[in-house]
Amino acid sequence: MNDLMRDVKEVLLDEETLARRIAEMGQQITKDYVNRDLVLLCVLKGSLFFTSDLMRHIDLPVTLDFIASSSYGESTRTSGVVRILKDVEERVEDRHVLIVEDIVDTGLTLSYLIRALKLRKPASIRTATLLDKPARRRIEVPVDYAGFKVDDQFVVGYGLDFAGRYRMLPAVCVLKDELYS
Ligand code: 5GP
Repeated sequence: MNDLMRDVKEVLLDEETLARRIAEMGQQITKDYVNRDLVLLCVLKGSLFFTSDLMRHIDLPVTLDFIASSSYGESTRTSGVVRILKDVEERVEDRHVLIVEDIVDTGLTLSYLIRALKLRKPASIRTATLLDKPARRRIEVPVDYAGFKVDDQFVVGYGLDFAGRYRMLPAVCVLKDELYS
């Protein structure tokens, strides 16, 4: 067992559950993008594992690029101000862009990224997120492919961090209360 699992209060989504759903999402995306020039845009760092697993279930000649944004710092609540820390390198004009997020919470990050990418005139922009926290939404944002809905609690693991840690946990988990305080 991963040693960090000691800090976990609850496992919300285990490895098998994640793998099964991500395979389904990949199959759906494969169907939807047949004969289209698709670029997957992995939003660093949280969606690293999700993108890598999802991509292996997309049976199309997709390309991959990365974008990094930040709004959290070391807190579990968004500051509301989104910044791009690393921009895309691939050409997106006239291509189909699928933004791959770890979690959509307030929606501010995704909404900002969509606006920024639209300026580059892609053929289309859609979004895929592993987790969706609809209860916390502050801005309406299109979520085209959502893996799982989660309640309003701060989750870690499978790429998601708390202050930079816990990303390597194999499951999506909630940490013990005392660790968040
Ligand atoms: P939003 O802009 O939608 O509020 O937040 C999006 C980003 O906030 C996500 O990409 C993720 O990095 C972070 N985030 C939101 N909720 C959680 C959570 O429960 N756990 C972790 N680790 N990050 C979260």
